[in-house]
Amino acid sequence: MRWSKILLPTLKEVPADAEAISHILMIRAGLIRKLTAGVYCYLPFGLRVLAKIEKIIREEMNSEGAQELLLPAIQPCELWQKSGRFEALGEDMITFTDRHKKLNVLGPTHEEVITALVKNEVNSYRQMPLILYQIQTKFRDEARPRYGVMRSREFIMKDAYSFDRDQPGLDVSYDKMYDAYCRIFKRCGLEFIPVEADTGIMGGDTSHEFMVLAGSGEDKIACCKKCEYAASLDKAECPEPDHGQRTIDHSKKPEYLKDVSTPGVSSVEDVAAFLKASSDKLLKTIIYVNADKPVAVLVRGGHEVNEAKLIRVLKSNNLEMASAEVIKKTTNAPVGFSGPVGLTGIEIIADYSLKGSRGLIAGANKADTHIIDIDMKRDVQVTRWADIRSIKENDLCPRCNLAGINIQQAIEVGHVFKLGTKYTQSLGATYLDVQGKANQIIMGCYGIGVTRIIAAYLEQNHDDCGIIWPWAISPFQVIIMPLNTDNKEIMQKAENIYKLFIDENIEVLFDDRDIRAGMKFKDADLIGIPIQIIIGEKNLAQGIIEIKLRKTGQREKIKSGEVVPKVLKLIDDLQAYPEPEGI
Ligand code: ATP
Ligand code: MG
Repeated sequence: MRWSKILLPTLKEVPADAEAISHILMIRAGLIRKLTAGVYCYLPFGLRVLAKIEKIIREEMNSEGAQELLLPAIQPCELWQKSGRFEALGEDMITFTDRHKKLNVLGPTHEEVITALVKNEVNSYRQMPLILYQIQTKFRDEARPRYGVMRSREFIMKDAYSFDRDQPGLDVSYDKMYDAYCRIFKRCGLEFIPVEADTGIMGGDTSHEFMVLAGSGEDKIACCKKCEYAASLDKAECPEPDHGQRTIDHSKKPEYLKDVSTPGVSSVEDVAAFLKASSDKLLKTIIYVNADKPVAVLVRGGHEVNEAKLIRVLKSNNLEMASAEVIKKTTNAPVGFSGPVGLTGIEIIADYSLKGSRGLIAGANKADTHIIDIDMKRDVQVTRWADIRSIKENDLCPRCNLAGINIQQAIEVGHVFKLGTKYTQSLGATYLDVQGKANQIIMGCYGIGVTRIIAAYLEQNHDDCGIIWPWAISPFQVIIMPLNTDNKEIMQKAENIYKLFIDENIEVLFDDRDIRAGMKFKDADLIGIPIQIIIGEKNLAQGIIEIKLRKTGQREKIKSGEVVPKVLKLIDDLQAYPEPEGI
């Protein structure tokens, strides 16, 4: 491909509304352009990367016996009402009313559609195990579309669905997809960690997320510094401390509860500073509303309530923070002064870490007032103890109990679930077993954010000059850079090499633009093609051409007649994973 012919508009400037480095690079290197918030056009360069990722995904899915199909984006709303997810997805759903006044959904995911299909087409145990997948556009009206294609409103997902006769069958399908995912992400050049994950509104019991470590990641994961344990923050357990840690020290007579005046002071940090106490002595009381009923949730200052855990504990479909009005009605106090002492008539859920604690400070359910010296056992009527907080840096690993936890930012690129019968039950998908008895089909679902892979890869693989593509998903393998297009000898040489590469089926970009050499260098580094072939006047006069590896910056001068065999050799090395050490 000649640069003068391809639509590959590079930009020197950092685009105004791009914050994440991947977003900046995707725009600057001409992969995407924004149409409107969270909606992007893929230019030819970006589409080439997508096609490569999709090819890897197809190869790995097919190698596990999964079959590709294509499901529609337009889905009748009734299907979603039947599965009970119309409400759960809420405002994320993009809907439209058609000319027959029927409400339709633009598919945010396809569990409902595929289950409806399989319900009709799969009736016998002989037809399973079955894994079906598609690579297709999804639509979600994300509350905060950002970071370009990382969180967009229209994105490409690979979604696979497994259908099995029984749980052991599902376990096999799940493992196949899990292994295929590891191979896909590795081949795409990602450094990733599979973590135990919450199943959330998807349902089911077991789930893993595939996380790419990156500072801009919107998710946090907890990894043990010693053992293999890795989990998303919504899943990572904070178990009940062992008995020894929560025994009350009865040798010291508890102080009587005391109200103290804390005018206008309500945040954990401010109260701790005002009362000269350590923040872990603070008892945070957060009022939620669960299915129209207020609930008081207690965690230690310095801990955060984990809403996914709370939802699991409450088995809630509808949990939200209470409004100021509800807080006032429930506690008689303005926001910031809620506390559990004397709070009656509502459920009080306390985090395990508070068990047996004394000398705590909480709001007094009175404006500008706190209570000190609270003893959980003596003073608080806890209705339920549970694990409702997020794990923290250096907390003890819940698996090995030997080392601390490390919290890291990460990007979720894939998610696999053992769904069980959640959808086959609500949509009535059954099969006849060997005895001719009807059973519910057992299901799994497996998603990859295809477009998000590009952004995640770029977060991990760039330098100050631009993108560093790996061999496997680079839009081109080689870029030829004649530094002076007015020089006939240079252009002749460049044309010859270009043709030789084309004959060898090498994906080559020929920078035939009549621009300054400095611009060519900058653009080549920005767009990140692995092998640069630099043809300059001085070198060529001595029969020499320079080869540069984008990743390492290593350069080598080669006799001009030896460029093609040398590059072919490099390509052999580059195709092997991981990338070669050098020239
Ligand atoms: P997130 O927590 O990031 O919103 P999710 O849990 O909603 O993701 P799934 O429904 O499991 O995501 O979708 C499967 C995959 O699709 C995700 O692992 C992610 O890689 C990708 N994905 C989800 N939402 C988006 C989005 N708005 N833009 C781009 N990719 C997305
Ligand atoms: Mg989401």
